[in-house]
Amino acid sequence: ERAREILESGARRGSNRLGVEAMELLDAYGIPTPQGDVVSSPVEAEAIAEEIGDDVVMKIVSPDILHKSDIGGVEVGVPVEDVRDTYEDLVVRARNYQEDATILGVQVQEMVDLDNGVETILGMNRDPQFGPLLLFGLGGIFVEVLEDNTVSVAPVSETEARGMLDDIDSAPLLRGARGRDPVDEATLVETIQRLSQLVTDFPAIVELDINPLVATPDGVQAVDLRLTLD
Ligand code: ADP
Ligand code: MG
Repeated sequence: ERAREILESGARRGSNRLGVEAMELLDAYGIPTPQGDVVSSPVEAEAIAEEIGDDVVMKIVSPDILHKSDIGGVEVGVPVEDVRDTYEDLVVRARNYQEDATILGVQVQEMVDLDNGVETILGMNRDPQFGPLLLFGLGGIFVEVLEDNTVSVAPVSETEARGMLDDIDSAPLLRGARGRDPVDEATLVETIQRLSQLVTDFPAIVELDINPLVATPDGVQAVDLRLTLD
């Protein structure tokens, strides 16, 4: 099946760490990802942006760069007319960071509505004793600062997945604090269960992070993925 192929082709390339290459894995499990693609030239990047038809997000794709925004490897809100220049900028920044970095290309992605969304993190760490531990919490730039998260052993039932939402201190944020619309909780719960299924099906995945998983009133979007195979 498709999901298995994705992991195997990643493993064949000799890297046990996958990022955007594995986004399709999420799609295969019904976890939505923003529209877009990885390209290897400025002109192709522009074509994708035109297809998306709005401002885009652009990210450097390199196995040597784990935290893309730390090195200026993420540009949000790029208008189509700036896409070609931004492509070059991202590559220059990656080279400045590490001269011999392997650069696979640039990911051009549809913008997700962060103003009406909450950046969460949904991840998994395989514990030798307990098995796959799912982690859910507040994500994005707050992840290290606030450390608001909860852990549950996979596979999780619907009740357990819902309990993970209740568990975090920021739960009111998901439920529409400060006059915001509440996020689509049912989809969020379903997404936790889908990831639970994915990591149960693939014991070879030892670690996985969707950060951020943006939760909005209309559903969720897995914006960034990183995983490690054993
Ligand atoms: P990294 O974690 O490697 O720095 P991310 O892909 O998580 O890279 O991007 C960093 C931040 O940029 C995200 O936490 C989010 O705030 C913002 N961002 C990334 N992709 C999008 C997107 N498609 N729409 C809106 N904001 C985005
Ligand atoms: Mg990230």
